Amino acid sequence: MTAVAAAHATVMTVEDVAEVAAGAEFVLTVRVSCPAGCDLSGIPIELMAPDDATATVPPPRLPPAGGGEEGNEGAADIAVARRIALKAPLRVGEHVWRLSCAAHKTGGWHHDAGLLRVPVRVRPHETSLAVWAIPSPVVTSRPFAIKVGAKSAAGCDLTGMPIAVRDPAGVMLAGGVLGDTPWPGTSSLYWTELTLIAPAEAGMFSWSVELAAADLALPHQGSSSRFSIAIVDPPEHRLTIKVVAQETASPVENAQVRLGAYRATTDGSGLAQLMVPKGAYDLDVWKSGYDAPTASIVIDADRTVEIAIAPMPEENPDAVWQM
Ligand SMILES: [Zn+2]
Ligand SMILES: [Zn+2]
Repeated sequence: MTAVAAAHATVMTVEDVAEVAAGAEFVLTVRVSCPAGCDLSGIPIELMAPDDATATVPPPRLPPAGGGEEGNEGAADIAVARRIALKAPLRVGEHVWRLSCAAHKTGGWHHDAGLLRVPVRVRPHETSLAVWAIPSPVVTSRPFAIKVGAKSAAGCDLTGMPIAVRDPAGVMLAGGVLGDTPWPGTSSLYWTELTLIAPAEAGMFSWSVELAAADLALPHQGSSSRFSIAIVDPPEHRLTIKVVAQETASPVENAQVRLGAYRATTDGSGLAQLMVPKGAYDLDVWKSGYDAPTASIVIDADRTVEIAIAPMPEENPDAVWQM
């Protein structure tokens, strides 16, 4: 047999700290134990922050955190959880906190000093973008406006951050900076309105909006988001759509009419009008409780079409409410 060790070890462990966001508060949970089972819950430990200039901070002593946590690793392992509130540095990257405890005599035994490095990864705040109030359709070569907003995952003030709209080739189509007032009803969606000039050619376009978040005091990840926009030729012809009920031929009010990117709603006479360029279109009509076919129509002059819609069969649960 080897000689009995002259001193017990002091073992410090921490619960795994996931990445934390720059500047965020987080909690380090520390346990101090002796492999031979001495109760080390009263042993002071010290914490040195990543910035060595700051003074060491003794952690607060807290009562044992419930009996259930003990005994999982063996009855001898008495380890009381100590929770230490910390704040992540503003610099991104790995930062190391150092836990230490001096050699001590506890329970009649000498215990060695303990030291534990706790590396924590600090990441930049994520940002997200939203684009809204996109007009549809937009006429070729005309100016139009969209709203763009950005948000930090930590709700930071993003006033003055630059926003750019780019085409798929990376060419900047519009740029601006976020205003200083969050969008109404949100706490931290900073936004601006950007004016763009529609392309000279009609079609569907997919552009990206980008936030470059490099200049903020706190590190932020930039982000980008795509949005689509329908560009159409200038309207040349008036299309009048009359929606009637199939069996009675009476006009149907408040039916929604969609012709490609164009939308309208029927009035009390069952009529809706759209100004559209020449072309071939699918015409869809929608009205709750009715079934309407899709019609294919060609616009090469002003014209009127009548669409008859039929009530849905009764097994449709919505139909019950019409009775
Ligand atoms: Zn011990
Ligand atoms: Zn932030």
